[in-house]
Amino acid sequence: MNPTPRDIGWIEVITGPMFSGKSEELIRRCRLATIAKQNVVVFKPAIDTRAGATEIVSRADVRLACVSVDRPTDIVKGAEHADVVGIDEGQFFNVDLVSACEELANAGKRVIVAGLDLDFRAEPFEAMARLMAMAEYVKKVLAICVVCGNPASRSQRLVESTSRFMVGDRETYEARCRRCFVPEGKGPHQEGLGID
Ligand code: ADP
Ligand code: ZN
Repeated sequence: MNPTPRDIGWIEVITGPMFSGKSEELIRRCRLATIAKQNVVVFKPAIDTRAGATEIVSRADVRLACVSVDRPTDIVKGAEHADVVGIDEGQFFNVDLVSACEELANAGKRVIVAGLDLDFRAEPFEAMARLMAMAEYVKKVLAICVVCGNPASRSQRLVESTSRFMVGDRETYEARCRRCFVPEGKGPHQEGLGID
């Protein structure tokens, strides 16, 4: 068991594919910090409009108030008085997210970043990959492969699009293991399985 840091900041990363419970885990950690009377501020990228601009909503409908921002420097500005800084959907920010998190942690704050490790081609998102290397604590969470039931580490895109950033949910992505994942396109498993 690691000792809890005292009088210093640090970075925690929660990462994995879509549907793996990253937002749930971020919300849980932020809620506990609030109960511990810490000043908690949570951010998400403005590009993610799925749940409105002022809330993070997990798929199990657990909600937490948040601030929508355009870029990582907005997080640094908005977190001035925070003890704990939560960041959801970290993969949607550019690589400046890394220096922003470093700056916040160096200023004594606890920084918790949730985000996808891999894009729809199973290539790492740069900011998340770097953050995983630089963070003190990294938690990988896995979903369940909707094809075979194994632990799922990949986000399968179900619609045609080559854009790396395509905000979507159940209708456009599903969780798959490395065996069932097909980097280009929908893959052979989708037909006849009744996946909506
Ligand atoms: P993330 O932020 O990683 O996309 P959420 O925290 O929003 O994930 O949602 C996680 C929840 O999604 C799980 O607790 C479960 O109830 C639900 N869920 C839906 N599909 C799956 C799946 N294929 N594997 C695991 N959980 C799933
Ligand atoms: Zn599978």
